[in-house]
Amino acid sequence: MTTQRVHRIAVIPGDGIGTEVMPEGLRVLQAAAERFGIGLAFDHFDFACWPYYERHGQMLPDDWRERIGGHDAIFFGAVGWPAKIPDHVSLWGSLLQFRRAFDQYVNLRPARLMPGVRSPLVRRDGTPRAPGEIDMLIVRENTEGEYSSIGGRMFEGTERELVVQETVMTRHGVDRVLRYAFELARSRPRKHLTSATKSNGIAITMPYWDERVRAMAAAYPDVQVDQYHIDILTAHFVQRPEAFDVVVASNLFGDILSDLAPACTGTIGIAPSANLNPERRYPSLFEPVHGSAPDIAGRGIANPIGQIWSGALMLDFLGYRQAHDAIVRAIEVVLDPANGGPRTPDLGGHARTADVGRAVADALRHGA
Ligand code: ATP
Ligand code: MG
Repeated sequence: MTTQRVHRIAVIPGDGIGTEVMPEGLRVLQAAAERFGIGLAFDHFDFACWPYYERHGQMLPDDWRERIGGHDAIFFGAVGWPAKIPDHVSLWGSLLQFRRAFDQYVNLRPARLMPGVRSPLVRRDGTPRAPGEIDMLIVRENTEGEYSSIGGRMFEGTERELVVQETVMTRHGVDRVLRYAFELARSRPRKHLTSATKSNGIAITMPYWDERVRAMAAAYPDVQVDQYHIDILTAHFVQRPEAFDVVVASNLFGDILSDLAPACTGTIGIAPSANLNPERRYPSLFEPVHGSAPDIAGRGIANPIGQIWSGALMLDFLGYRQAHDAIVRAIEVVLDPANGGPRTPDLGGHARTADVGRAVADALRHGA
């Protein structure tokens, strides 16, 4: 008899619609586990949300590292309830703690045009793009770069006032995110990698990044590499988003591109993301791009697809690419207007959160 590997997943629904979309994410993971024979064990945690903060005066218990640090992944909903706690307190007290402690140095965001979701972008001839025609993965460096706290103010309050903030790039930090991006590009049919910098304006750190891209490209002769300046790249994203496959950038540029790319493919309710520690020394975290959406929370109408798709990314990371692909196909089946599946109000329908979750799970069971 063989013993099945069981992956332990820490489930943290968080605030607002996080608690409404999470059950649907779990429903679909369960269906995938059954269909593909994947061992998943879910542990639920009630911290990282405002009710916990209200009881304890902090977002996380003191022993949070011990409680979730041994899990294989963290499946997260959303955090933030500005009416009760300022966003910087809820965010710094939870997600950013995880990111730092678990060295999640890759932020990954897929942007794929799905059926029945209108892209705000049309082709130059005015026609819309077909589903799947835009299909890119944004890889953002998540721990260093422009978001450093090195710097400060001098001569404050005088005419000579001077403010400086340093960008920090280390070979370790740059190479590890580039390696991840090259490996990812290699695993995809197009094997195409785009890197964004601004080496003509930021003339010390950005040329260094470019240099490391060229050095690493030598080890990946099968990957086609393009290097762009960030300004022209954003224009290309709008004019010909179908041209991109894997796109890698520093913390700041990656931050901007990872909002721009999902915007090119429609609604925020369906976009997934991952914060990865690719070496698997610590758990990686999977969450929808959207926040807690207080404006629609409690009504059962949030779109659960961002959460469901994030679950697919989690299975891919745990080694189940086939299960990932099947979940994405099941989402496409439900979204395809030809099938008349349920749609939440953000996609122009009248369905409820659970209707969509059930429909995706059914499509998955029936072999999408
Ligand atoms: P963050 O918490 O990341 O700072 P935010 O608070 O600016 O994000 P969201 O909470 O994502 O933004 O909400 C932005 C808008 O999108 C709101 O109007 C919200 O109702 C809508 N929205 C977000 N997620 C969903 C979803 N899953 N389904 C439907 N509408 C959504
Ligand atoms: Mg918010």
